[in-house]
Amino acid sequence: MVGDWRRSGWLNLIPTTPAPITNHQPPMSVKLTPEQLDQIKRHGERAFPEECGGLLLGVIEDGARVIREILQLENIRKDSRHNRVELDPRDYLRAEREASKRDLGVWGYYHSHPNHPAIPSGFDLEHAPFTEWSYLIVSVRDGKAEEVRAWAVREDRSQFDEDTMTIEDLIK
Ligand SMILES: [Zn+2]
Repeated sequence: MVGDWRRSGWLNLIPTTPAPITNHQPPMSVKLTPEQLDQIKRHGERAFPEECGGLLLGVIEDGARVIREILQLENIRKDSRHNRVELDPRDYLRAEREASKRDLGVWGYYHSHPNHPAIPSGFDLEHAPFTEWSYLIVSVRDGKAEEVRAWAVREDRSQFDEDTMTIEDLIK
């Protein structure tokens, strides 16, 4: 996979392929539990007015990314922390190693938009590493987390489309 995102940003050390994909159709939905959604919101609130970010670890089941764990990462950016988040590539690699030990893959990324809607920016598009991932954005208004929306990058990387996000308990 090639793309401009390699030139800059926090993912320069990421291997060229993410966790193996079990089918050829890119999965187009993401499933989280209410607790996981809450973790993402609380992280956004704690970091406010700065941005925060983290990874979504999970498995692919029936064409959906089923999230098993939310991994909060540290924003290592020194400037523009209110509207930029940069994650340590070493943290990413560590996360990937930990995930694979537990038979999980990294299937997405979340970050917060302090006082901005949960809609991806041009910067987000340029820095979205994988088309297989789901990109969650939590909008945090005046310190209070509001909506969370999920997005997926098109194969040609021209834009984001809204991803289908379902929130349900794992216990069936
Ligand atoms: Zn953003």
